[in-house]
Amino acid sequence: MNAHDFDLFVIGGGSGGVRAARMAAQRGARVALAEMQGESGLGGTCVNVGCIPKKLYSYAAHYAESFEESHGFGWEGAAPVLNWGTLKANRAREIARLNSIYGHLLTGVGVEVFDAFARLDGPHAVVLRGAAGSEERRFTAKHILIATGGTPFRPEIDGGEHVIDSNAIFDLEPFPKRLLVVGGGYIACEFASIFNGLGARVTQLYRGEQVLRGFDDEIREFVAKEMGKTGVDLRLNADVAAITRTSEGLQVKLQDGNELQADAVLYATGRVPLTQGLGLETAGVAIGKNGAVLVDERYQTSIPSVYAVGDVTSRVQLTPVALAEAMVVVDQLFGPAAGKPARSMNYDFIPTAVFTHPSIGTVGHSESQARQMFGDVTIFRSEFKALRHTLSGSSERTLMKLVVETATDRVVGLHMVGAEAGEIVQGFAVAMKAGATKAIFDSTIGIHPTAAEEFVTMR
Ligand code: FAD
Ligand code: NDP
Repeated sequence: MNAHDFDLFVIGGGSGGVRAARMAAQRGARVALAEMQGESGLGGTCVNVGCIPKKLYSYAAHYAESFEESHGFGWEGAAPVLNWGTLKANRAREIARLNSIYGHLLTGVGVEVFDAFARLDGPHAVVLRGAAGSEERRFTAKHILIATGGTPFRPEIDGGEHVIDSNAIFDLEPFPKRLLVVGGGYIACEFASIFNGLGARVTQLYRGEQVLRGFDDEIREFVAKEMGKTGVDLRLNADVAAITRTSEGLQVKLQDGNELQADAVLYATGRVPLTQGLGLETAGVAIGKNGAVLVDERYQTSIPSVYAVGDVTSRVQLTPVALAEAMVVVDQLFGPAAGKPARSMNYDFIPTAVFTHPSIGTVGHSESQARQMFGDVTIFRSEFKALRHTLSGSSERTLMKLVVETATDRVVGLHMVGAEAGEIVQGFAVAMKAGATKAIFDSTIGIHPTAAEEFVTMR
C-alpha cells in the first residue's frame, strides 16, 4: 500500500518539469505533472514563447540579408516581401506539433498529466484547480518538484498599458513598422535584431552605458556597433518617461525630453520567478529576492520533500541548465540510469549564445572577470571580414577573442561575435571543460576555410 498518490508531483510542464517527470517515470516512479496551460503549454517558455519561436523568427529575419547579399554572388531579381501572417501561422503549427510530442513523451512513459493550476498544500500535497467551475482536486506525493519558470518583469511607467512583453510579440498584429525595444539584455538585443531583419524600423533604448551587462566588454561594444550597421538605432543612457496613444500610433516621451513614435513598444527588462498563487509561504518554502525559490546544492528547498529547478530558482536562466538540474534531482531521488553514475551539476563554463545579427557565442570568463580572478591574463583577438562578405557587399565584421590565464596557459574565456557563433562555441566549450590550454588550441589543426579556424590560429 503506497502512503502517497504519487512518488513525484511536478508543478510546471516546461523544460525542467517535463524532463524531470519523464526521467523519473522511466526509472519506475509514479509521476504526475500539472501544467496550467494544458497541452498547449507543454514545453513551457522555451517551446512556446522562448528559444524555439525566437530562433524560427531569427531564421526568417536572416533571409532579408541573404537576399540582399546574393546579388554579389550573381543572383538577380527584386527581394521578396515578408508575409508576416504566413510566418506566424507556420510557427504556431510547428509549436503545436512540439506541444503534442511533449504530451506523448510524458503519457508514453506513464506520467499522469493534469491540465490545471497547481499549488502546494503542505509538504506532501498539491491542490489542482482546473477549468473554471471544476472542482479542486488534492493529491499527495512523496516528493514535489516546483518547475514553474519565470514571467516577464516590467517596471511601472506612465502609459504602461500600451506596452507589450516578449510573450505577446510573437503574435503581434499588425506587423510593427516602427518598433521600440526597451532593455539591453538577451531578449531586447535579440528582438531588436529580429524585427530589424524582418523589416521594422527598430529603436532600442538601454538605460546603461552599454548593452549586455556581464558579457565581455569588447564583445558588447562590437555587437552594438555591428547591430547599428544593420540598422538598429541603439540609444544608450536612455529610458522612457511616458507613452501615450495618438492617431499616429504610440507617442513615446524619453527621459531626456526627446520624443519618438512607434507602432509597438516591447519591454524586455528581465524576468522574475513565477510563484504567484503557488502557496509557498503557507507551505513554508523559503523564498529570496524577487520571489525566487531558495534551494541548496541538491535543489532541495527549506521543506525537505519539496525541490525546485530552472528559472523559478532565478539562477542561470537557460533551457539546458533547467534540463541538467532536473536530471540531477531525478538521479538523487530515484537513482541514476542503469550503469551510469549519479549526475551532478557544475555551473562552470556554461556556454551561451545571443541570437543577435550577428550573433554572440561565449563560454567562460570575460576579460575583466578573468583579470579579477587570475591576475595576469593574456588576450588573443582576431577581427576580420568573413570570406562570404568579400562578395556579399556586407560590411559585417567578425570578432574572436581568447582569454588565457598566463600562469597555467589555460583558456578561461572564449568569445565571438559573428555568423553561427553558437554553433562554433558549443564545441570549444567541451575543450574548455576539459581544461584545454592555449598550447592545445595551437596544436589543433584548423578546418579551412572557416571562421572557426581562427580560434586555433591566433598567435
Ligand atoms: P518554463 O519553461 O518557463 O516552464 C514553466 C511552466 O510551468 C510553464 O509552462 C508554466 O505555464 C507552468 N506553470 C507555472 N506555474 C504553474 C502552476 N502553478 N501550475 C501549473 N503550471 C504552472 N534559453 C536558452 O537556453 N536559449 C534560448 O535561446 C532562449 N531564448 C529565450 C527567449 C525568450 C524570449 C525567453 C523568454 C526565454 C528564452 N530562454 C532561452 C530561456 C528559457 O526559455 C528558460 O530558461 C527555460 O524555459 C526555463 O525552463 P523552466 O522549466 O524553468 O520554466
Ligand atoms: P536580462 O536580465 O538579460 O536583461 C534585462 C535588461 O533589462 C537589462 O538590460 C537590464 O538593465 C534592463 N532592465 C532591468 N530593469 C529595468 C528597468 N526598470 N528599466 C529599464 N531597463 C531595465 O533579461 P531578459 O529579459 O533579456 O532575459 C531573461 C533571461 O532569459 C536572460 O537573462 C537569459 O538567461 C534568458 N534568455 C536566454 C536567451 C538565449 O539563451 N539566447 C535568449 C533570451 C532570454 P541592466 O543591465 O542595467 O540591469
